[in-house]
Amino acid sequence: MTSPDQPPLPLALIVDDDPTLRALSRMCLEQEDLRVEEASSGQAAIDFAAVMMPDIIILDLQMPGMDGFVACQQLRQLPHGEFVPILIMTGLDDIDSIAQAYEVGATDFIVKPCPGLILSQRVRYMLRASEMLNALRSSESRLAQAQRIAQLGGWEWDLVKDRMHVSDAACRILGIAPALCDHSQASYLARVHEADRALVAEAMRVAVADGTEFDLDHRLVQNDGTERIVHVLGETIMDDTGQAECMVGTVQDVTDMRATEAKIYFLANYDSVTHLPNRSLFLHRVAQAMTCGAGSHVIGALLVVGLDRYHRLRDMHGSRKAEQLIKDVVERLQHTLSAGVTHVQSTSAETPVLARLSDDQFAMLYTHLSTPEDSAKVAHTLMSALGTPFVVDGTSVTLSAHIGLAIPGADGADADVLLRNAVTALQAATTTGQNSYRYYSSAMNTSLAARISLEQDLRSAIAENQFVLHYQPQVDILSEKVIGFEALIRWQHPTRGLISPAEFIPVAEEEDLIIQMSEWVITSVAQQQRMWHKGGFAPTAVSINLSGLHFRQRHIAGHIKALVYEQGGNPQDIELELTESVLMTDASTTIATLRELKESGFRLAIDDFGTGYSSLAYLQRFPLDTLKIDRAFVKDLKLGTVDSPIIRAIIGMGRALKLHVVAEGVETRDELAFLRMQGCAAYQGYLFSKPVPANQLQHLLRDRRSEEASMAAERFRNRLAS
Ligand code: C2E
Ligand code: CA
Ligand code: CA
Repeated sequence: MTSPDQPPLPLALIVDDDPTLRALSRMCLEQEDLRVEEASSGQAAIDFAAVMMPDIIILDLQMPGMDGFVACQQLRQLPHGEFVPILIMTGLDDIDSIAQAYEVGATDFIVKPCPGLILSQRVRYMLRASEMLNALRSSESRLAQAQRIAQLGGWEWDLVKDRMHVSDAACRILGIAPALCDHSQASYLARVHEADRALVAEAMRVAVADGTEFDLDHRLVQNDGTERIVHVLGETIMDDTGQAECMVGTVQDVTDMRATEAKIYFLANYDSVTHLPNRSLFLHRVAQAMTCGAGSHVIGALLVVGLDRYHRLRDMHGSRKAEQLIKDVVERLQHTLSAGVTHVQSTSAETPVLARLSDDQFAMLYTHLSTPEDSAKVAHTLMSALGTPFVVDGTSVTLSAHIGLAIPGADGADADVLLRNAVTALQAATTTGQNSYRYYSSAMNTSLAARISLEQDLRSAIAENQFVLHYQPQVDILSEKVIGFEALIRWQHPTRGLISPAEFIPVAEEEDLIIQMSEWVITSVAQQQRMWHKGGFAPTAVSINLSGLHFRQRHIAGHIKALVYEQGGNPQDIELELTESVLMTDASTTIATLRELKESGFRLAIDDFGTGYSSLAYLQRFPLDTLKIDRAFVKDLKLGTVDSPIIRAIIGMGRALKLHVVAEGVETRDELAFLRMQGCAAYQGYLFSKPVPANQLQHLLRDRRSEEASMAAERFRNRLAS
């Protein structure tokens, strides 16, 4: 009995016209655990095998009708009949027929009558041999299939006769019909790409001479000119005397595999936009260069260039334009690097390695500078190369950049540390004004840590509403009456107390937090004005400082107007202060934005006037209402004699342009007297009041209200009198 998961017993077919002999054979085969079927004639055997091919056939030669020869021949023609073992039973006198039986396909013979033991042993042996053959055949076919999938072929090269046997699969790879496969080393080499031929021949020569293996990739040109990449492996076989006798090997088409590998390598090591090495490859190159330079007196520098506000530019112009801009930046950097820097004596002809570290950071490694100071010249040159505006899709884009420098050895003994320190130097440079560079110093790590913690605190400050507004009165210089307030932001830090905007606004601008902050200021001012209104005070003008970043936001006018209206405020009660330098950057778009703000009802002021380089031509075209003289000029009054030609000129100009001129930072009566004499319209300063919280302004507002009430009463009396 067989259980369902055991293979079925082998099936034997006994073909004999003599029923006694069939019964005897059956008996002894069944003892061998075979299933047995019988056929009494050749035709019956064929009919049976056509339906189910047995695992072995025991065939009598002499039978009436179709004899054993014909039956054997026909059995071999049947499906699956080719490999079935056929054991011929023949009488002793019939021994001559045996040769003929083999010719028609017999596997073996046995003389009858045959002792049961011999028959069963022979059958068992034949079954085992047949099983092994079947296993071999299926493994061969699996191998062939695997080779086809792997595009792998085999070859054998007889070194003595210089004959090469190439398998069908190998012929396919070589691009030749198997029938046409020629067979010598020369003909193989003829198919190898010209440029690789000498290399392949040499590898084969060495392997034969040393009795070793060879293993290489080379290009192959097929008959139709198609180029493929193949991987060839060969192993030398020696004869008994130690002479190389033949070489066996494989050839595999690896074209697609190598292309994929190349793609993966590229993605892992290069930036897909600029095709420059990425951070990981750059670090690898730096490490290599540092190992090579170790011990020698090579002077080098690692520079990291950071583009300012790249993400903002990308948001403004879209990623396609931003990518183009980055490509243009790379072109300039490359040009600068390959042209070499004037005055810098490089001691090597090598172009420095350039890499893209992140969206807005590039790094380069100089390994052969003549003097350490040369790295500063490099920084200057790079900076001025990036300083010229870029033109992307017809739009002019001005970029500013910062550079951090670290010196191999002094600022880091390994690539990681060196790069990290150069980035730290870059961050330090970004805090020191536009287009500047800084060398790394160990102190930077400490100040950087402080800055990072400020940055983090600032983010939570926005979320946790830790800002407050103070208001500084603006006073009419002749009547000394309050005409409005400037809103100035302060940060109520949970541990550090009140922090000045001078400390956190630059950080907020860099980290793109300024917009949220600016919107908070506008909303709060509008709310405050509404509260004053509810409290019965007359509309009170408030000036708000608008950051350049906010000013350059798309649709800024509509946006701010909506914020003000949301709080029930009125743009007409708000003056927006923009510094001179913000207005003068990209003056032509400035005009359009100013007009929109103006049309939305806001008043506009130019702040910190005198610190930038205003073009008078533009100043005339800007729809401004107010000009604020920078505090620095007023401060100068205190230091020298109480006169300032600059202040006089500014006031004169402001009046000529019909602007309301406001002086800032007025601390003494003498300053005030001078300003009044020059015709300045209003002032702000500690002399009158420091910036204070809104709740400390009540008395000023009340005074104004009673004054207004008495003025109205006066007007009423006058009207009555007239
Ligand atoms: P600013 O717009 O020039 O503001 C005037 C600054 O001068 C204020 O400094 C004010 O407190 C100070 N000040 C006023 N009168 C005197 C005086 O008589 N003597 C002296 N020594 N200083 C006086 P503050 O509040 O520290 O603000 C500094 C700067 O921070 C402001 O300069 C402005 O540029 C910026 N800022 C303040 N608040 C905001 C804001 O809400 N948004 C934006 N974007 N910037 C703001
Ligand atoms: Ca201001
Ligand atoms: Ca100012």
